[in-house]
Amino acid sequence: MAVQEDQVVGISYTLWDGEGEELESRGDDEPFHYLHGHANIVPGLEEELSGLEEGDEFDVELAPEDAYGEYDESFLYRINREDIPSGMELKPGMPLELAPEGQEGMRMLVYVKEVAGDEVVLDGNQPLAGKHLRFKGKVVEMRDATDEEVEHGHAHTGQHHH
Ligand code: ZN
Repeated sequence: MAVQEDQVVGISYTLWDGEGEELESRGDDEPFHYLHGHANIVPGLEEELSGLEEGDEFDVELAPEDAYGEYDESFLYRINREDIPSGMELKPGMPLELAPEGQEGMRMLVYVKEVAGDEVVLDGNQPLAGKHLRFKGKVVEMRDATDEEVEHGHAHTGQHHH
C-alpha cells in the first residue's frame, strides 16, 4: 500500500527552519496523523510523501512557496493598545484571536509582532510564512480513511475530536 489520496497517514518527523533551528519533533511512538490529498499539510511535504510506503523515510527541503507561502506585509495591522483588554500583557510572538467588526462569528488568528508605546503591530501571517523548511522523518503507519473522514476532509486519529 502506498501513500495516496484518502489514506490516513501517520508520520514521525523533525522540522527545521532554513537556519537549521529545530522547530518541532514527533517520534515514531507519537506519530502525527493527517488525511492525504486534502491539503491538511503543506503542499511540498504532501507531494514528497505521495507514493511512499510504510517504513519509508523522507528528507525534504521546501522553499516558502511549497510550505507556508511567502511573507505578506499587507497582513500587518496597526491598532491602538487601548483596543486590547488592558489586563492583557502583550509580548512579541503571542497569538491573539480577533473578531473583525461586522463579520459575525469570524475569528482571525494573528500574532503580536511589536509593541511600541500606544501602538501594537499585529501580524496575520502564519508564523512559518516566508521560511525555508526541512522535514525529515518516516511513514510510521497508514490505513484507508473512513467515509466520514473523507467527507470532513481530515483524519480522526490523533488530536482531532468532535
Ligand atoms: Zn471530522
